Amino acid sequence: MERRCGDCSLCCTVLRVDALNKLGGVNCLHQDVRGPGCAIHATRPQICRAYRCLWLGGGLEEAERPDLLGAVLDVVSDGATVRLEIREAVPGSFDDSERLQAIGERYRVSMPVRISDVGDVLDPDRPYRVLLPGGEEHRVRGEWTEVVHSGRITQRRRLSWIERAARRVILAVRRSRQRGMRGGRGRSSPGKAEN
Ligand code: SF4
Ligand code: SF4
Repeated sequence: MERRCGDCSLCCTVLRVDALNKLGGVNCLHQDVRGPGCAIHATRPQICRAYRCLWLGGGLEEAERPDLLGAVLDVVSDGATVRLEIREAVPGSFDDSERLQAIGERYRVSMPVRISDVGDVLDPDRPYRVLLPGGEEHRVRGEWTEVVHSGRITQRRRLSWIERAARRVILAVRRSRQRGMRGGRGRSSPGKAEN
């Protein structure tokens, strides 16, 4: 049977919606204040109709619905690579949830698992973690990556100068886009996008 979102509307808070000028981690203006759901359901934008998180698409167990996990999960294709994206609704959701950790273990065998949060929505350079096969974890903070094995930091790496230059350009573009979104909050015409 096809799944329905039911009481969940977590993606409407966690994800960025460019066409609404909505930042990730803040409620959509159209979230129904009387309960879960969309106040403009019948006329909601096409991108909202089209969006299906991993759970809604049947990729997770019934009991692993995003609002019960505290995170929105998607399998994301990024050019040649595919990864599981876990976006925490509040910082620390992953570490607090045995279910989320079990999902991470399940997926890291076949693809990287990237864990990020939307705790500071105004920082386009938030730290994130990537779980890899064999127990390896990368903790990325700015230009630096800590490589962790079995809870121990085994290596610290800094981006090369060319990667640092490219990163500065990307951050400048994101900050500029974010300023535009903050200035334009409240306008309508939607579209869900990655956070
Ligand atoms: S996070 Fe998934 S289940 Fe929840 S409202 Fe969005 S699409 Fe539906
Ligand atoms: S417009 Fe889209 S993001 Fe906003 S509440 Fe409706 S479905 Fe969610």
